[in-house]
Amino acid sequence: MEFLNILYDLLQVGPLIIACNYLAFRLQQDRKYELQKNIEMKEGWINYNEELLKYTLQDYVPQKNIYKHFPKELETAAQEILYSLNKYEELTPLIGKLISHLGVSNLPDLFFNLENLNIHYVPFYQRKHLLLDALGTYSYKSNEITIYKNKPGVLEHEFLHAASSREICKNGTNYSLTGFSILGEDLDWFRGLNEGYTELLNERIFGTRQISYKTNTYVIKYLENIFDNPHDMEKAYFYNDIDSIIYQFLEYGSKEEFLKVMRFLNLYSSMPATKTERDHIVHLICDIIKRSGQKDNIDKCQKLDEENKFSIKKLVKKF
Ligand SMILES: [Zn+2]
Repeated sequence: MEFLNILYDLLQVGPLIIACNYLAFRLQQDRKYELQKNIEMKEGWINYNEELLKYTLQDYVPQKNIYKHFPKELETAAQEILYSLNKYEELTPLIGKLISHLGVSNLPDLFFNLENLNIHYVPFYQRKHLLLDALGTYSYKSNEITIYKNKPGVLEHEFLHAASSREICKNGTNYSLTGFSILGEDLDWFRGLNEGYTELLNERIFGTRQISYKTNTYVIKYLENIFDNPHDMEKAYFYNDIDSIIYQFLEYGSKEEFLKVMRFLNLYSSMPATKTERDHIVHLICDIIKRSGQKDNIDKCQKLDEENKFSIKKLVKKF
C-alpha cells in the first residue's frame, strides 16, 4: 500500500520535476550560447582593432615623456574643488589617498571631472547590458559612475577611471581617453592594458584586494619593469600618455611583440588564460627586459618570478 502511495505521489509531481529540469537545462544552454556569442563578437572586435592598430603603428614614431604640464589655473581651482567637496562623502578618503600617492600636479583629469561627477547605485539585475558581468562602470560622456555591486574595490576602480578620463578631438573626430585606453566611434585600443593597470593601482593606492582582471594584473606587474622607475608609468596613466609606454617598450622590443602583448591583455581581460598562455607572454616580456641590460629591471622580474613560485607552493601546501 505504502509503495502505491509513493508511486501515486511520484506520478503527480513527476512531470513538474521534469519540466523544471528541462527549463534549467534550457536556461543553461541559452547562457552558454550567449557567452559563446559574446566571446566570438569580442574576438572579432579585437581582430578588427588589432589590424587597425597594426596599420597605424607602421609609420608611428612614439615620443618619450610627453606629459603635458599641469595647467597653472588648475592648481588654484584644485584647492577650491577639494575644499568644497562634500557631495560624496565616500569619495573624500579616496581623493586624499590618490593625491598623497601622486601629488596634485600629476592628476589633471581628476579636477576637471570632479566638479560634476555623479555616482549612482543600481541593483545588479538592473544593469544596462545584461550580458556584461561588470560590477560598476564609468562613462566619461555623462561623467557618471554606476555601481551595480557595492563590494570593496568597485567604487575605487571606477573612481580611478573618472580620475584619468578626458576627451580629445583629432581630425574632426572625438576620442575618449581613459588612462591608457583610447575609445572612438570606430576603435577601442589598449583596453586590456588599461583595465589591468587600473586594478594594479587600485591595490597599490587604496589597498583593496583584487577582484577582477587578475591575469592582466599578473602580466602588467612584469611589464611595468620596462620603466626604470615604475612611477613614470603611473604618471603616464593619469596623463593619458600611451606614447610613453610604446616608446619605452620599443626601446628593446619590436612593434610585433608590442601588438602581441596588447592582444593578450585584451583577450584575457574577460576570460582567464591558461598557465601556459600566461607564462608564454611573461617570458616574452622578461626577454625584452633582459635585452635592455638594465640589471635593476631584470632583478625585479626575477624577484617577481620567485614570489609567484613561492605563492604557488604555498597554495599547493594548503591542499
Ligand atoms: Zn574598469
